Amino acid sequence: MTQTRMPVLFAGHGSPMSAIENNADTKSWQALGQQLPKPRAILSISAHWYTDGSRIQTSPDPKQIYDMYGFPQELYDLKYRPAGDPALAKQVQGLVRSPAVTADNTWGIDHGTWAVLCKIFPKADIPVVQLSVNGRLQPAQHYAVGRALSSLRSQGVLIFASGDVVHNLRRIDWDKEDGFDWADSFDTAIRDAVLKKDHEIVIHYDRLGRPADLSVPTPEHFLPLLYALGASDDSDQVTVFNDHRTLGSLSMTGYLFQQAAA
Ligand code: ZN
Repeated sequence: MTQTRMPVLFAGHGSPMSAIENNADTKSWQALGQQLPKPRAILSISAHWYTDGSRIQTSPDPKQIYDMYGFPQELYDLKYRPAGDPALAKQVQGLVRSPAVTADNTWGIDHGTWAVLCKIFPKADIPVVQLSVNGRLQPAQHYAVGRALSSLRSQGVLIFASGDVVHNLRRIDWDKEDGFDWADSFDTAIRDAVLKKDHEIVIHYDRLGRPADLSVPTPEHFLPLLYALGASDDSDQVTVFNDHRTLGSLSMTGYLFQQAAA
């Protein structure tokens, strides 16, 4: 029997508070945990590890990083300590040759990863390896890295990308429960392109004009989506979840790319 290809997941992680909240978004993450096949390991690409060059965590026991400031103590008390997977890290280094991926254990599992995975896989019993988002690459190159990683799917590895399609902290309105018009417009244009599998539109997101400029003032939260798209293929069914904006300028929208049931 051939092993099922693992799905690919992109989550809009929003505020780190999701990790300790119980709301419609976190419930849908929990539901994913019930629905997904259990991976052998997780390769996480987090917006919060945005580096000069490509880095990968090779430690068998990665640290948990609390890379956010000014939140309630409860969030800093949350422990999510999965094992690492040095063999998977090595495999990624073999698959992604240009540019080369350097081992780096100065970082760890950051909140882009743990604030979502603590809801999807609360037992922390699946090894996690983080791959950085290389700030030197062009969007098409991020997509190509995702493509290079796609073979891991048939080896029980869940490729998990965590960012926000719309992420503009300067424009946040703490009293607003939905999104600004430009945020809705950009998130919807990207969603339609993802559903149509028109990846060129997503890669060239900057052509979407003012909504793109305001939604992606810096690229690190948008780029993880390109890894997920690169790792997906034509035969995948796409499911959209948490399809909404919050606080004006953050998108929670997530995508699951999954092989259709035989
Ligand atoms: Zn973030």
